Amino acid sequence: MRIAVLGTGIVGRTLAEGLAGQGHEVVMGTRDVSETLARTEPDAMGNPPFSQWQTEHSDIPLITFAEAAVQAEVVINATAGIASLAALEAAGSGLEDKVLIDVANPLDFSKGFPPTLSVANTDSLAEQIQRAFPSSKVVKSLSHMNARLMIDPGRLPEGHEVFLAGNDDSAKETLRGLLKEFGWQDEHIIDLGSIEAARGIEMMLPLWLSLLGKLSSADFSLKLVTT
Ligand code: NAP
Repeated sequence: MRIAVLGTGIVGRTLAEGLAGQGHEVVMGTRDVSETLARTEPDAMGNPPFSQWQTEHSDIPLITFAEAAVQAEVVINATAGIASLAALEAAGSGLEDKVLIDVANPLDFSKGFPPTLSVANTDSLAEQIQRAFPSSKVVKSLSHMNARLMIDPGRLPEGHEVFLAGNDDSAKETLRGLLKEFGWQDEHIIDLGSIEAARGIEMMLPLWLSLLGKLSSADFSLKLVTT
C-alpha cells in the first residue's frame, strides 16, 4: 500500500519505519524539506534531529505534506495536534477521498506542562479534521499510547486495547489490517463507532499523562476487562 506519514517527530518516524518494515511504500511529509533536514538539535522530547534518523532510513523519502499526500492511498496524521489542521491544509487536495488515520492529540503546551486539550467534551480534533476534509475517511486511533507500542503491541507482557472511531467502515477495515500486521490481535482492536467517539479517545490523554508521571516510563497501556 502507498502510505504517507505526515509528521517527522517520533510518532511519524516510528510509524514510517514500522510500515516500511511490513513492505509498504512509505513517504514522510514535512512543511519544508530543507529546513527539516537542516535541523541539528534534538527536538523538545530529546529525539535526535530528523537528518540523523534519515541516514538510517534512507529508503523512506522526505517530501512536503502536499507531495506526500497526493501520491498516497492512506495518509497518517502524525503532526502536533495543535497544528494538525494547518498541516493537513497544506496537504490540501491530496487528502480528497483518502483514508486519513489520525493519531494526533490536541495538546496545548502554551501554558507549560501538563498540557491541556485544545478541544474536548463536545468536539474532538478528529471531528474537526473530518469537518475540514469531508471527503476524507478519518479514523481516530492509536493516540493514547507511546509510538513504539503502536507498531509493537507485544512489547507489553499482556494484551491491551487499541480503539478506532470513524464514520467509514472500509477505512476502519484498512486500519484494522495495518494494525494486525503490527501484531495487534482482533479482540484487542475495539471499534467504538462513529467519529464522535474520538472525543473519548482523545480525552484519555490527561489520564495517560498522569500515569506517565506516576510510572516514570511511557511503556504502558490500558487493558479492558469485562465479565
Ligand atoms: P510533534 O512534535 O508533536 O509533531 C511534529 C510534527 O508536527 C512535525 O512534522 C511538524 O512539522 C508538525 N508541525 C508542528 N508545528 C506545525 C505547524 N505550525 N504547522 C504544520 N505542521 C507543524 O511529534 P510527535 O511527538 O511525533 O507527535 C505527533 C503527534 O502524535 C502529536 O499530535 C502527538 O500528540 C501524538 N502522539 C504522540 C505520541 C508520542 O509517543 N510522542 C504518542 C501518541 C500520539 P515539520 O516536520 O515541518 O517540523
